[in-house]
Amino acid sequence: MEYVAPNSLDKAAEIAANARGSVRYLAGGTDVLVQLRSGLHQPSLVIDLKRIPGMLDVVRTADGGWKIGAATPATTLNAIKELRQSWPGIVEAAELIGSTQIQGRASLAGNLCNGSPAADTVPAMLAAGATVTIVGANAERKTLSIDDIVKAPGQTHLKPRDIVASINLPARSQKGADAYLRFIPRTEMDIAVVGCAVNMSLDGETVSEASVALGAVAPTVVLVPEAAECLLGTRLEDEAMENLSMSCRAACNPIDDKRGTVEFRISIAGVLAQRAARTAYQRARERQ
Ligand SMILES: Cc1cc2nc3c(=O)[nH]c(=O)nc-3n(C[C@H](O)[C@H](O)[C@H](O)COP(=O)(O)OP(=O)(O)OC[C@H]3O[C@@H](n4cnc5c(N)ncnc54)[C@H](O)[C@@H]3O)c2cc1C
Repeated sequence: MEYVAPNSLDKAAEIAANARGSVRYLAGGTDVLVQLRSGLHQPSLVIDLKRIPGMLDVVRTADGGWKIGAATPATTLNAIKELRQSWPGIVEAAELIGSTQIQGRASLAGNLCNGSPAADTVPAMLAAGATVTIVGANAERKTLSIDDIVKAPGQTHLKPRDIVASINLPARSQKGADAYLRFIPRTEMDIAVVGCAVNMSLDGETVSEASVALGAVAPTVVLVPEAAECLLGTRLEDEAMENLSMSCRAACNPIDDKRGTVEFRISIAGVLAQRAARTAYQRARERQ
């Protein structure tokens, strides 16, 4: 196995394009290194992305959004107060990944590209309407939505040589907020049995925009537009919350495993959606 650490995205794209055999990118390495050691993947080439300028940076864009370099670890996100204020749900999802040590390395891009339906930050990014800037084999740039990338357990719609350059978060409306919650069988260091992200904007006290995404209850993380619809025009009255829960439960197509039965996961999805919606709503009200 060969290891390279190029110092530009174009160089990385060129190396990847000319590589024979399989290629793995190294962001934080918290998935890649485990997979290499267990023999799950035996790539011919590992391309370390951390020496590329911008890969570890978080930049406020001119329109008030955020550009998060693809190898930026969770701890960096948490250290940026304005980012925590704009996208608390994204930051709290990243803060749930593994332990303090893992968070010192684990990136949003790696979480996305690993393709796990239980990935904690992917529902939060999906609900946020995040986009992904990609450098393709000929160094061409394109931008895709998170939804364009999720495909199946352990797989994405990225082409084998595509490199994620950044995760992009839109500007946050003044009266908006998000929240992410997950259920795990113990207090930490486990993967989600169910995850739920809710993102919303308010007009006065009324929900004017909403999106809801679920993790670990289907072969991919899923956006649930019917659930978001239940919140629009409401102040989270009881009926809206019951409809939200019902829509989320209906969107589930989970597996049955040692962490939770199908029935349990479906039931918890409804409960988490209600709690995440209340948290996002409260945060949005406090921003007004
Ligand atoms: C002890 C432990 C606990 C964990 N707990 C959690 C948890 O609670 N929740 C959770 O969601 N995950 C958890 N994980 C999994 C892992 O930490 C996350 O998925 C993390 O976000 C991966 O990010 P990374 O930067 O380390 O990715 P890497 O390991 O560097 O890469 C992961 C995958 O993405 C690809 N990739 C990385 N960067 C790019 C890029 N820029 N362009 C294209 N492809 C790329 C790699 O080729 C690889 O296939 C845990 C892992 C460990 C070891």
